[in-house]
Amino acid sequence: MNSVSKEVELPGAFLLGAGAVASRIVGMNAELMPLVLTEAEGRPAVNGSYWSSINPADGQCLQEKYSDKFSDCNFGLLANLYACEGKPGQVIEVRAKRRTGAESLVGALRKTLEAHYPDKSLALGGTFVIQKGKAKIHIMPREFPVCPLHTNDDVNSWLKHFEVSAPLICQSVLVSRDPGLDLRVEHTHCFSHHGEGGHYYIDTTPDTVEYLGYFMPAEFVYRIDRPQETHVIGRE
Ligand SMILES: [Zn+2]
Repeated sequence: MNSVSKEVELPGAFLLGAGAVASRIVGMNAELMPLVLTEAEGRPAVNGSYWSSINPADGQCLQEKYSDKFSDCNFGLLANLYACEGKPGQVIEVRAKRRTGAESLVGALRKTLEAHYPDKSLALGGTFVIQKGKAKIHIMPREFPVCPLHTNDDVNSWLKHFEVSAPLICQSVLVSRDPGLDLRVEHTHCFSHHGEGGHYYIDTTPDTVEYLGYFMPAEFVYRIDRPQETHVIGRE
């Protein structure tokens, strides 16, 4: 994340988003909820990230503070990161209660932007809290698959799915439409102060769910280390 911060010309940036841990450091595969103030001249990075893995003792979610065990700011596989200067300023506040459609909060935001600005590609990053209700998440197994995963069904049967409870702090990066950069158009990870966290899909309690979020439109979108060969599996 320190390198990403320099690549996007914001050394000392505040980063949040969704990614995977660096398995070479952590020793396994796991979900990462990155929350980092990257290093700047004379100041080391501050890593407030959380990570979630499958607890080998009971097969349940094990969420930990990253800095309790590790001191680096690396990630692995991929990350969708929102970078800003971390300064106060105007933001977009989103309050929502009850879900009446099939879209998640993030999907609804993305599709609303896409419908309103059909010829533009708008990116938002930010944080929202699921204040009431429950949500569906996944956590990747500790071991990588032994065989290639060729379909979304293959991926979904490899992932471990859980229902987790509010309050959940969700970090989201989304783009209304892929501007031709082969982007994942939305990626949201959540953590909590009660030991639950992972990759967020949608709330499972549409009648009682409540959301409060703060987002910022992006000035720039950067695609770092774009793969030469791509696919459409596991994009949402
Ligand atoms: Zn994820």
